[in-house]
Amino acid sequence: MSDPAQRIEWLRSEIRRHNVAYYQHDAPTVPDADYDELVRELQRLEAEHPHLARPDSPTSTVGSAPAATFSEVVHRVPMMSLDNAMNESELRDWGSRTARRLAEIGVSDVRYVCELKIDGLAISIRYEHGRFVQAATRGNGRVGEDVTANIATLGAVPHQLDDAPPVLEVRGEVYLPVAAFDALNAAQEAAGERRFANPRNTAAGSLRQKDPAVTASRGLSLWCYQLGEVVDGRSIASHSEALGWLGSLGLPVNPDTAAFTSLDEVYEFCTRWIEHRHDLPYEIDGVVVKIDSLDVQRALGATAKAPRWAIAYKLPPEERTTLLRDIQVSIGRTGKATPFAVLEPVVVAGSTVGMATLHNEDQVRLKDVRPGDTVIVRKAGDVIPEVVGPVIDLRPAGLAPWSFPAVCPCGRGAPLVRVEGEAQHRCVDPLCPQQRWARLSHFASRGAMDIDGLGESQIQTFIDLGLLSDVSDIYRLDYELILAQRGYQETSVRKLALAIDASKQRPLGNLLFGLNIVHLGQTGAAILAEGLGSMDAILDAPVDDIAAIDGIGPVIAGSVRAFFDEPANRELVERLRDAGLNFTGPERSTLPQTLTGMSVVVTGSLQGFTRDQVEAAIKSRGGKAPGSVSKRTTAVVVGADPGGSKLTKATELGVPVLDESQFVHLLDTGDLP
Ligand code: NAD
Repeated sequence: MSDPAQRIEWLRSEIRRHNVAYYQHDAPTVPDADYDELVRELQRLEAEHPHLARPDSPTSTVGSAPAATFSEVVHRVPMMSLDNAMNESELRDWGSRTARRLAEIGVSDVRYVCELKIDGLAISIRYEHGRFVQAATRGNGRVGEDVTANIATLGAVPHQLDDAPPVLEVRGEVYLPVAAFDALNAAQEAAGERRFANPRNTAAGSLRQKDPAVTASRGLSLWCYQLGEVVDGRSIASHSEALGWLGSLGLPVNPDTAAFTSLDEVYEFCTRWIEHRHDLPYEIDGVVVKIDSLDVQRALGATAKAPRWAIAYKLPPEERTTLLRDIQVSIGRTGKATPFAVLEPVVVAGSTVGMATLHNEDQVRLKDVRPGDTVIVRKAGDVIPEVVGPVIDLRPAGLAPWSFPAVCPCGRGAPLVRVEGEAQHRCVDPLCPQQRWARLSHFASRGAMDIDGLGESQIQTFIDLGLLSDVSDIYRLDYELILAQRGYQETSVRKLALAIDASKQRPLGNLLFGLNIVHLGQTGAAILAEGLGSMDAILDAPVDDIAAIDGIGPVIAGSVRAFFDEPANRELVERLRDAGLNFTGPERSTLPQTLTGMSVVVTGSLQGFTRDQVEAAIKSRGGKAPGSVSKRTTAVVVGADPGGSKLTKATELGVPVLDESQFVHLLDTGDLP
């Protein structure tokens, strides 16, 4: 399409279509990065051909019209969008532009406030004489949707403010914390419902519900970042002062905010958050840089779409599109058959993604992804990559839906069986080579027997040599035969033998976890080892005794019992006993159980304890020492160089924060200061 006028028209209609899908239906059909490219192209063409610019172009308008489902609310102060900077030079261009404008009015010193750009949706919340009276979405910036009843269900929104002026309208971002998003998706999957795409769209969909009870169930939260209309407010000179005031009124204001006087420092803040974005318990998609002085803000004014005194520095996108080449099935250590996407490799958030899980048959059906589709791939931090869904517009005609294979891909022809009431298929062939490899790999892995030098590919080599069939063979390896192979040196083989020997002394919990018992995870295995004290006690324990252990449910207990009732498994255990593995559980603690029922999270390093000792100190007194902060956390202990997210979360949830001496007091007495 070489005619710019035609291209511009096409871009405008495409962008408007995407705006409706995104803002009105909370269900975009392309990733943000693709949408942003269309907008940038339109901006460029309009700048090159100014006679084709129009005030109703999506480059000059905000969001999309409010949906008919909700009553309308007119914003007395418009809710604007933000201009974007995609890189350092665009950030500096904005700095120079504003500096030039400010020089004209004699302002030379600028103070910038940097805030996290929370990935949710904008909200306006109105208080009259301190009482919460109304909440509205941004809509098209002038008219939004009335979501008062829904916002009223959010725990983070105070219903009454003390010392508030007659009218206070505050703006902020409603977001879905990552933990709430994950929990929601786990529940969706268990119910055979489609997983949600990402926290931002789920937040928007959860807020814009007809039934406020649905909103209430989703765990949405809020950060406030801006004043809207204020009547008879105190006189406020700067944005940072406004934020401080909002915080003092009891409104949630994000603590990770900083003020700087140079763009170098601003840029450093932005790059720091590229690296640390996933340390936060919620998602961000950028850093918002705002000029602090409200006088300067007024002097700079706004375009039709966005203020000139602010810019959003965008973080690299975490969703991309690519071709779905195939859907294959992998067989796990307990026979679980999991479909996965084979993708045309694509770089998402800095790493190349060539494969992504598709969870189970129902999820493939609900997402309706088909080999040959262009799909949206999402990778957020360390989380495993996920296929969000197909781009239907790009689906080739006649593409057939995918169906789950009837037999195991290992080639032995065993059927893949879907157990009644379960979402998973399983391969029920005990001799399945894929299961065998997965079982051996798991046994030798970090969380289990932690055998250095016995990785996944090494295990495959030893299987191919006929040296490994089940996990007990690891302790009968023929080292002469291995040495005779090409590429094996005396030193590395000796090292492997020592590592295997050392693994015999691993705690009983690690061994139980390594045995690949269905449903028995790492924590459950450790609890089981401590609860019954030895392998022999576990071997013959009635199922009720296993289920009676605190932390072991009836499903795990049934699975453990079934595993040890299987004669082949008992024979395996005897071979492991003969090999000299540790079958004794940890000694029960004789210390006073001061922390029973408590959950203590530690962040940063303490002077009197190593990381392991802290954990042991908590557990030996009956407490739990999880790795993250939640509503159930009793206290967070903070040492030197703490991780930001645990502390932020503790403050957010009102969890008590202790220093080392208060922690020691807690260990001794079980009392919080
Ligand atoms: P924006 O999201 O880039 O910036 C403005 C918004 O940032 C504000 O309205 C506010 O909600 C939010 N924000 C978060 N933290 C803030 C803070 N501390 N201070 C001020 N504002 C803060 O602009 P936009 O106009 O809302 O929409 C553009 C975004 O939406 C882009 O990321 C775009 O990719 C996406 N989008 C995607 C599609 C699609 O089809 N995929 C369609 C439309 C829009």
